[in-house]
Amino acid sequence: MARVLIVGAGGVGQVVAHKCAQVKEVFTDIMLASRTKEKCDKIAKRVKEKYNRDIQTAKVDADNVKEMVSLIKDFRPDVVINVALPYQDLPIMDACLETGVNYLDTANYEPREVAKFEYKWQWAYHEKYKEAGIMALLGSGFDPGVTNVFIAYMKKHYFSKMKYVDIVDCNAGNHGKAFATNFNPEINIREITQKGKYYENGKWVEIDPLSIHKPIFYPEVGERESYVLYHEELESLVKHFPEIERIRFWMTFSENYLTHLRVIVNLGLHSTEPIDYKGTKIVPVEFLKQLLPDPASLGENYTGKTCIGVQIEGIDKSGNPLKKFVYNVCDHHENYIETGVHAVPYTTGVPAMIGALLMVTGVWKGAGVFNMEQFDPDPFMEKLNIYGLPWKETTF
Ligand code: NDP
Repeated sequence: MARVLIVGAGGVGQVVAHKCAQVKEVFTDIMLASRTKEKCDKIAKRVKEKYNRDIQTAKVDADNVKEMVSLIKDFRPDVVINVALPYQDLPIMDACLETGVNYLDTANYEPREVAKFEYKWQWAYHEKYKEAGIMALLGSGFDPGVTNVFIAYMKKHYFSKMKYVDIVDCNAGNHGKAFATNFNPEINIREITQKGKYYENGKWVEIDPLSIHKPIFYPEVGERESYVLYHEELESLVKHFPEIERIRFWMTFSENYLTHLRVIVNLGLHSTEPIDYKGTKIVPVEFLKQLLPDPASLGENYTGKTCIGVQIEGIDKSGNPLKKFVYNVCDHHENYIETGVHAVPYTTGVPAMIGALLMVTGVWKGAGVFNMEQFDPDPFMEKLNIYGLPWKETTF
């Protein structure tokens, strides 16, 4: 029924390929393309062994719009799932625009030279996509992604007013390495070492990195120290739910992780500023990435769980105070057995597949550029339970 082109063969690309292959009644033709074709071939081989499905593979430099356009023209997908890096968002969006193909990603655009993520660059494509009659779905991972849908779901079914929203993200797993990041190290370290930010009473409040923290209780995991970070979904959620008085994003880090991070920052290894080394320009954080374990390789010995969800305090539909917590728990090892990678890419790749499924089946449709919370959350919530990210509701 639908042809899907997946761009990016990292941990997330691996999960998206497996998940699309599982839904053969919808994704009849799959292509996986990335900078290093061997990685695509390896994933395609695993999918063939597990599900007896053929995935076409190709080499592409997604920074190059012409190359992307010619790949899209050759394969003629109904949707492009971009799970390369945030730097590639705009060139891939340009290629989709030129060829009239729908677009989906899991992380918003970041310019390479500054660690700064904002939706403005991608929202600027809205009119052009609308005129072309195509759709872009932004941030269809877990956070952003499922967390936006959890909020839209709670608004639809429970709250007349959402006052305080806390997105809480806990990885209580152990990969057995002294230090590693759970997804692309460059993107991850850039995200954590920049200033924190949250929204309160109509204003953004900027804080020093990791300066606000407290223990939060995560179901099936326990209490974990959690830190306020700026995360991209806050920007779109504040825009689409102006009733929210305060919204923050919390993430857990172990003492060991923070100690390594402090050393990295003290040495300047997190810097995006190129330095000259014996006549060669080197970006320290890109160099660091080469030294660290490949996140996609962490799965084999990863144990423990993740728990990610949204806590909302506000007023219910009858005018009474209400506190609701919707969350998902994943098990690193179970996700590894299924897809060959751990829970962090798993929780990102499953929603990417679901977003694409809702687009190609016309359940979520529109012309222009959209964030997840702009659509009916119910079909997405239903698919989460079917495709590996079951969720639960409680209070907190
Ligand atoms: P990886 O670094 O493991 O994989 C990225 C892949 O993209 C690699 O295969 C890489 O190729 C490929 N790539 C990079 N540049 C290009 C290019 N110019 N052309 C073609 N391919 C390219 O990242 P992850 O799989 O961990 O993450 C993928 C995306 O998911 C990221 O954007 C990340 O921010 C996002 N993410 C979103 C989350 C969410 O919840 N919303 C959570 C976690 C991640 P090569 O193999 O040659 O290096």
